[in-house]
Amino acid sequence: MKGCLYLVGTPIGNLGDFSPRAVEIFSSIDFIAAEDTRVTVKLLNHFNIKKPLVSYYEHNRLESGEKIISRILGGETCALVSDAGMPAISDPGEDLVAMCAENGIDVFIVPGPCAAISALALSGLPTGRFTFEGFLSTAKKSRFEHLNAVKSEKRTMIFYEAPHKLLATLRDMLSVFGDRRIAVCRELTKLHEETMRTTLNAAFEYFSENAPRGEFVLVIDGAKESGAPDMTFDDAVEKLRRLIDGGMSLKAAAKLCAEETGFTKNSLYEAALKFNE
Ligand code: SAM
Repeated sequence: MKGCLYLVGTPIGNLGDFSPRAVEIFSSIDFIAAEDTRVTVKLLNHFNIKKPLVSYYEHNRLESGEKIISRILGGETCALVSDAGMPAISDPGEDLVAMCAENGIDVFIVPGPCAAISALALSGLPTGRFTFEGFLSTAKKSRFEHLNAVKSEKRTMIFYEAPHKLLATLRDMLSVFGDRRIAVCRELTKLHEETMRTTLNAAFEYFSENAPRGEFVLVIDGAKESGAPDMTFDDAVEKLRRLIDGGMSLKAAAKLCAEETGFTKNSLYEAALKFNE
């Protein structure tokens, strides 16, 4: 009789998020296929579980996948895990699931945290319809092809990014999308968890002065319906002018306008100084 495959979600930071059912499944299966066995051994040690491990990662996925499939066909049960979060989501796994489907092997899910969905829920942006965009390519051409392809996307978009590439990514997004609302979610479930709800422009300015550290998810507002373009800096300055004309002090107007538009208080303040030139 055939065995089966379990896709097991693991914590994205906080070990307390490893579910009791995941511990149960780990204890009951025959072997674990792990993206990095050293990372998974730490998790197993924490929960006092001993199981044989095989490695299954991006560059051995075909060869290792075939061996895993033949063991499952031979009657063994396997749990697939990645280093963190849900296997198959910007992590190895989708090929193994497809191979199981081709071989008539049952695949069951033991869900756990996913950075993308956690960030979306935290973002304060519309969650009703969204797209997951994963990582942008580091190659300039495909990076801009990707950004241009989603420029008019109306649904909220979720991107993953590494800290050392964050600033360049915010810059490129700003150049293609224009200024938009963004939630920058950092170190979710960890000690320094933080969510910045701001705009692309303000996020770019912030991280130009504060080196990004940790793991990031970027959740970006979709494009506005046609006929309702995103707010430009000129629109924000016009709004500022109306507030000042209405009797508000320059300082208070710049502060309020910055909060409402996401452009920085200083840039608006400086623009307003030129009103009477
Ligand atoms: N499979 C994982 C999941 O379900 O979220 C994603 C794996 S992907 C290789 C790793 C990326 O996920 C990181 O570069 C970062 O963008 C995001 N990520 C993972 N853990 C995170 C955390 N604790 N806080 C913020 N982002 C995180």
